[in-house]
Amino acid sequence: MATALRLAEHGVDAVLLESAFCGHGSGSRNAGQLASAPGGDIQLLNLLYRKRMPAIIRLPENAAAHVEGLIEALGIDCDYEATGNVFVAVSRGQLGRTRRIAKILRRAGAHVEEGTAGELGIPHGFLGGMRARSAAGS
Ligand SMILES: Cc1cc2nc3c(=O)[nH]c(=O)nc-3n(C[C@H](O)[C@H](O)[C@H](O)COP(=O)(O)OP(=O)(O)OC[C@H]3O[C@@H](n4cnc5c(N)ncnc54)[C@H](O)[C@@H]3O)c2cc1C
Repeated sequence: MATALRLAEHGVDAVLLESAFCGHGSGSRNAGQLASAPGGDIQLLNLLYRKRMPAIIRLPENAAAHVEGLIEALGIDCDYEATGNVFVAVSRGQLGRTRRIAKILRRAGAHVEEGTAGELGIPHGFLGGMRARSAAGS
């Protein structure tokens, strides 16, 4: 739907074909997360493509911001909350890993904040972690 809307915005005569109702597929069944940081192993990505990291970061950050903008502009009633995505740690080892990832993301220009569970507003069973936000939500 977003693609069809974008094409129409740019003057393309777009048709959206749908066998059920719009949003019937995985779009209406997903977990609702807008990830503003790249998935996969960020440390490995950084090892292999260090120079490209700023561009790799901008893509999901801008994509998440674009969807947030669409939700707002079109008044889409989907209970979305722009809270960002939290990477959490339950051990000191995981906390160290989260810090290393936060450092890589920040150096590449990402909007990330580190903190304890209390600072991030997450349950106290976690030691802490980091929150990544979209380019719009920072
Ligand atoms: C359980 C689950 C959780 C997920 N969680 C997340 C998440 O948290 N964050 C995230 O970013 N992504 C998540 N995803 C992935 C994400 O939902 C999908 O990648 C995305 O919705 C795909 O969008 P789409 O428009 O390409 O396809 P769809 O939303 O699947 O739309 C395809 C549409 O085509 C229609 N169709 C099929 N065949 C025909 C036909 N022959 N003629 C006409 N119409 C047809 C279907 O009815 C459907 O509505 C999740 C997916 C699942 C299943």
